[in-house]
Amino acid sequence: MSQVLLKDVHKQYRDTNVLTGIDMNIQDGEFVTLLGPSGCGKSTILRILSGLTDATGGTVMIDGKDMKNIPPKKRKVGMVFQSYALFPNMTVFENVAFGLKMNKKSTNEVEERVESMLELVGLQEKKKSYPHELSGGQQQRVALARSLVVRPKVLLLDEPLSALDAQIRKHLQVELRMIQRELNMTMILVTHDQEEAMSVSDRIFVMNKGKIAQEGTPSEIYTRP
Ligand code: ADP
Ligand code: ADP
Repeated sequence: MSQVLLKDVHKQYRDTNVLTGIDMNIQDGEFVTLLGPSGCGKSTILRILSGLTDATGGTVMIDGKDMKNIPPKKRKVGMVFQSYALFPNMTVFENVAFGLKMNKKSTNEVEERVESMLELVGLQEKKKSYPHELSGGQQQRVALARSLVVRPKVLLLDEPLSALDAQIRKHLQVELRMIQRELNMTMILVTHDQEEAMSVSDRIFVMNKGKIAQEGTPSEIYTRP
């Protein structure tokens, strides 16, 4: 079953048409990238999927249900941003545990899930460190762990690597892809970096001015004239 389905989705701000008929069909466990220049509407799609804003037309389905009929807390859509937005006065462990404690999980369960997530992102040795003691790449890994630990069905990633140095970015692209496969999680990444899109995606949606201009696997996109 398709995990995320957009049918003829429109978004309008006053007299500006930001999205003009978006169709996307994303399968369970797929890694999909929205690629396109600044201002083409990529983030708007993520904001609609995360419930931060509403589409002004069309249908959005998550897990076979119209998003309008799923209460926000049950949507199970997580988001990672370009800025990590970690709590500066909490340790790495506490930052990752934060979402779980809000959900009233038992101490044992919190401990187990946080530990295994820190292991997955390679930060077990840093669990007692504070964000300012970490590099940018490490901070972004904490942000990723914090989003993953609540086990979303779909993870939205809004340019999560673009603030990082080229070398670390390459490294994290590979890691992100491994983590996605390991968890078999549906991920939707927004980027304007063509190389990044090519290296991590099962499928790329190339966007231009509020529309999908092209859609295909990296090799299909790459070999097309
Ligand atoms: P991208 O993520 O591809 O850079 P965005 O989705 O952020 O693009 O923005 C698409 C267009 O929508 C831009 O022209 C932007 O200025 C406009 N836009 C975004 N949010 C608003 C808003 N709240 N009000 C008016 N225009 C907006
Ligand atoms: P992005 O990093 O995706 O480009 P922006 O900086 O465009 O994001 O947008 C940040 C915030 O400002 C969003 O909440 C967006 O809705 C709002 N916004 C963006 N463009 C406009 C605009 N032209 N008019 C009003 N709000 C805007």
